[in-house]
Amino acid sequence: MGISFINKLNILMKISCIISSLLCSLPQIKTRFTLKKECSVWVAIPKTSEHEIGLSVDIVSKSYQLLDKNQKKTAEQKWLMENCHRYGFVMRYPTEKKQITKIEYEPWHYRYVGIENAKRMKDMGVCLEEYIESIIKK
Ligand SMILES: [Zn+2]
Repeated sequence: MGISFINKLNILMKISCIISSLLCSLPQIKTRFTLKKECSVWVAIPKTSEHEIGLSVDIVSKSYQLLDKNQKKTAEQKWLMENCHRYGFVMRYPTEKKQITKIEYEPWHYRYVGIENAKRMKDMGVCLEEYIESIIKK
């Protein structure tokens, strides 16, 4: 699913994005986890990442491939933030939802939730945890 999304994105924007980690290898995740832990911020514990179950992708600008907060300033991320829901994706860890997701802001990490859910989440302005909660309460 991620690949065709990126292809559509490239066609629409005529710019290049790459999938940074469709499926991170465990050593990569462990390294990231260790590094992040040293910085006292929260990331997914190894083997529990959404990448491992194939639901999430890290998408970065080809011209700026660092996984840091400056990623949000790229044209590709700006487009993704506005349009990813149209393809069934949501930004998984928005900065304003850090208290709820318990994960540090990752402007490159997108999760597939389906077009209908992604559109609803955007309209409601909620993250996945809040969205699931709203469904359970119904
Ligand atoms: Zn990710």
